[in-house]
Amino acid sequence: MSMIYLHVPFCTSRCIYCDFYSTTQSATVRHEYVNAACAELANRKSYLADRLIQSIYFGGGTPSQLQIKEIAILLDSINKHYDIDTNAEITLEANPDDVTPDFAHNLCHLGFNRVSLGVQSFNDRILKMLNRRHDAATAQDAVHTLQQAGLDNISIDLIYGLPTQLMQDFSSDLQKAFSLPIKHLSTYALSIEQGTLLQRKIQSNELAETDEDTFIAEYEIMMQQAHAHGFEHYEISNFALPGFESRHNSGYWNNTPYLGIGPGAHSFNGTDERQYNEPNLGKYISAAGLPPHTIEHLTLSDQFDEQVFTSLRTRKGLSLKNLEKRFGEAWLEDLKRAAQKHISSGSLTFNNNTLCLTRKGIMTSNDIISDLMRAE
Ligand code: SF4
Repeated sequence: MSMIYLHVPFCTSRCIYCDFYSTTQSATVRHEYVNAACAELANRKSYLADRLIQSIYFGGGTPSQLQIKEIAILLDSINKHYDIDTNAEITLEANPDDVTPDFAHNLCHLGFNRVSLGVQSFNDRILKMLNRRHDAATAQDAVHTLQQAGLDNISIDLIYGLPTQLMQDFSSDLQKAFSLPIKHLSTYALSIEQGTLLQRKIQSNELAETDEDTFIAEYEIMMQQAHAHGFEHYEISNFALPGFESRHNSGYWNNTPYLGIGPGAHSFNGTDERQYNEPNLGKYISAAGLPPHTIEHLTLSDQFDEQVFTSLRTRKGLSLKNLEKRFGEAWLEDLKRAAQKHISSGSLTFNNNTLCLTRKGIMTSNDIISDLMRAE
């Protein structure tokens, strides 16, 4: 299995919390970006040589800012150079206000079978504070529009722990989310990133950080409501109806190789190497398909830590049998020793040679996972 991620670096405005690479656009720049991405797709086809592609993901930025004919050109280029599984998951991230009936119908016609909507909140006051372009009604309409067009594998993103967001605001966001015909929910605890407007507003006391107890209480509510609506908590930040787990995200968690196309995109060879394209659209366009990048070689210790980190965050947990096969017995003994106190305290379970976080453990998952990793 392998995957393709295509980074579309355009947004019409900046959300105050966001540090993803994106820029504003003109039709000319968009056109040049599409040409450069097609050239990169052609030049880097050996990265996934002879592998069947089981997931294609258009992320951003805001991929729905591309015109449908530009999305079609990119998808054609992927189909031309890569071997795509007939059942591949093909996802596009969209902003709710870009989802018109025509757009949704055309996406479906092109072969997209999953849409991830950047909703973030159903509260208009909060959406305004975040500088999101849409309002709550538009987000709800977008879900129905996609469904009516035949795109019924819909995921939405919500953020919790936002400044000025009360418990009841988040609870009501969840109620709205689960009242819609969605199949998947990704939830993000707000993190305050360097250089964002949000960070400046917090430093100047214009907005206040959310305290840890509120984060925990909101997380509890989220787990309860998801469970009540039949959603499985298959990864710390992700919930899905049975059979609708994101194959793309799951690929990131189980060492699936992927090719990242576009400025700021990352690639992973499935074992010991990552490639980071430079997040600079101007340079990306001039490079005509050979973007400037850096390569990171992962040591065995890095690979071990990544496997511990990603596996423990999932419901399936960390298989010690797989870990031993890959890294040998000695490191496993260290990990088992470190895990013992968390098993005793009820934060981890150990069954069938697999470690899993319990509900209690999820709340302190970062501490537990870092105890089990090799890096100091
Ligand atoms: S639309 Fe998405 S990528 Fe663009 S600024 Fe907002 S959060 Fe960031």
